[in-house]
Amino acid sequence: MTQPLSETFERYALGLARKESLPLETHAEMTERRKAKFLRALKSHGIKGWPERGTLYTQELSQGCKPCLAGEASHLSVTTLCNRDCFFCFNPKPRKDVLSVHGREVASLDEAILSLKTLGVKSVGIGGGEPLLFPKRVFEVIAALRKNLSPDLWIDLYTNADRLTLPILKELKAAGVSGLRIDLAARGYDAEPVRLAREVFNDVEIEMPAIPEHKKVVRDLMHYLDELGVKQLILHELFASAANIDSLKKRGYLASSDGSHAFRLTWSPVAKSEETVYGHLLYALLHKFKMSVYYCSCRTQDWIAENALKNQKLSND
Ligand code: SF4
Repeated sequence: MTQPLSETFERYALGLARKESLPLETHAEMTERRKAKFLRALKSHGIKGWPERGTLYTQELSQGCKPCLAGEASHLSVTTLCNRDCFFCFNPKPRKDVLSVHGREVASLDEAILSLKTLGVKSVGIGGGEPLLFPKRVFEVIAALRKNLSPDLWIDLYTNADRLTLPILKELKAAGVSGLRIDLAARGYDAEPVRLAREVFNDVEIEMPAIPEHKKVVRDLMHYLDELGVKQLILHELFASAANIDSLKKRGYLASSDGSHAFRLTWSPVAKSEETVYGHLLYALLHKFKMSVYYCSCRTQDWIAENALKNQKLSND
């Protein structure tokens, strides 16, 4: 039975509500058998995490992900405008040049800061759209976060890296950004900005969706990223939402048979993405990469919202 979306779940699902579903994948039993086989192999090679939640990692959890999993993180989008138009992008359309906290529009930076303080977050991702379309705004946001929130606050900057330059990287570091999260799927897996970012940041992480047909290019890339000293490769389950369902449909993607029946959030997993991640995780373990590879699934997102809801209840008691 579908449960009503609480305010907290809504906060996590906002802007992502589906209009309809993708057609369901066929041969679901075969897929399940393959995934079960992968999971057995992953366990025998020392995978860590919570398989029942679809949350797995090879080495360690990222600094930004720890509070996120506990429902103690948020996302501040400085704009939903972007210089790219990725087929998998889940940002609401039409794109708007607005500031938002966790998908909810706010009228000012002061309101954003107040909202983050009320949520009691321990980590914040600054993103977009592409935040570096407006570097001045990004620096104002960082300064406000550093001034008003805990000195221990972890700040990640999410970017497609198109506008990253050495001077901007140095400025971001000096302003108090803790780590970078670069979406390489958004830029055709060109990792040149990662090399540049590593000259300035110790904590450079790649965060991108696991696209089934890009398996080979990602495997090759993993070796290079590990050599560069990238800390984390964070792979998201590809999912369908209102913003991307038409482009996913056009490309022939199907809905995972895992479906959304068990989820309360309003987006749903795409077939074969989870299996693709399992393969990447196993590849990382077999090649003994120092870089940790992390899997964040739709079930993970559901779990995060659940934890945030618990935190909200505790603070109301
Ligand atoms: S780069 Fe990021 S924000 Fe821009 S279109 Fe691609 S996924 Fe969306």
